[in-house]
Amino acid sequence: MNFPKETRSYCPKCKSHQIMKLSIYKAGKRRGMAEGERRHALRKKGYGGQKFPKLAKPAKTTKKITLIETCTTCKKKMMNKGIRIRKFELVAV
Ligand SMILES: [Zn+2]
Repeated sequence: MNFPKETRSYCPKCKSHQIMKLSIYKAGKRRGMAEGERRHALRKKGYGGQKFPKLAKPAKTTKKITLIETCTTCKKKMMNKGIRIRKFELVAV
């Protein structure tokens, strides 16, 4: 599915419609020393260390895409609800 790189939508900070730049959200790098990451490593350690069965056949065939809208006037960023799309492209219109 093709999406425009820029759209006009409501900005809660400007309290009016503004031109928004669209971009795709990407998860940041995982920190190995984070509490949850350390706990996970500890539980996985040793004999029978698998916390949960590995997914043999995933039910979903697509991954969710989260769009970030950035207001061009005040630079406020807004996250949209994730949508499931097989193919996604940002296209300049
Ligand atoms: Zn704004």
